[in-house]
Amino acid sequence: MKQVLIAKPESANLIAFLQDINKFGTVEKGYQQALFWYPSIQLAFQSLFLLPLILLALSVHNFAQRKGYGLISLMSWHLLVIFFIPLILKIFEFLQVGALFQFLFEIVSAILGGLLFLINYLYILLIPLIGFGIIKLFQKFVFNSKLQAANRVQKSSCIKCAKKIKPHDSYCPHCGYYQYVECQHCHNLTYKHLPYCKQCGHSQDMSNW
Ligand SMILES: [Zn+2]
Ligand SMILES: [Zn+2]
Repeated sequence: MKQVLIAKPESANLIAFLQDINKFGTVEKGYQQALFWYPSIQLAFQSLFLLPLILLALSVHNFAQRKGYGLISLMSWHLLVIFFIPLILKIFEFLQVGALFQFLFEIVSAILGGLLFLINYLYILLIPLIGFGIIKLFQKFVFNSKLQAANRVQKSSCIKCAKKIKPHDSYCPHCGYYQYVECQHCHNLTYKHLPYCKQCGHSQDMSNW
């Protein structure tokens, strides 16, 4: 069979091509280049697919929060996190952390002798952990209610709905939210969610919020 295969004109052409260093070198260089750019191109296309979904979920979430639609806000928030997960994994892969996953994979398969479905359990554990991390990160920097409240007080906006209000309005005329809280030290009214009382400077107990 080997003799028959070698004797075929197609095989002879291929062998001649492989032996021609100039021609084969060009193909090999092209292949290496494609191999190098492939993860970046893949990431770009996946981002192109995911970014509109992320923006949509984010805008729905912001809208629902502004309007006080709690359930929609919660659902859009979860969707936002879910849309982020593949992108984060891809970025890890892009940053060659993929090698780390590969390493983990090899360790598990060496220990458990090819029970590869166990890898999926590991992923099932890993993905909620990453999702939880993303949620915590967002709560710290993007949806931080204390930070948000500080910004809104500075702009004399309602602490809850962010619409402009007069400096001494106790209740927001747009959403009806009460803006003040009694200081536990001097018993004057001071801003909610801010770390110190505006009347006596005493630290407010933030654990209530
Ligand atoms: Zn308001
Ligand atoms: Zn006070």
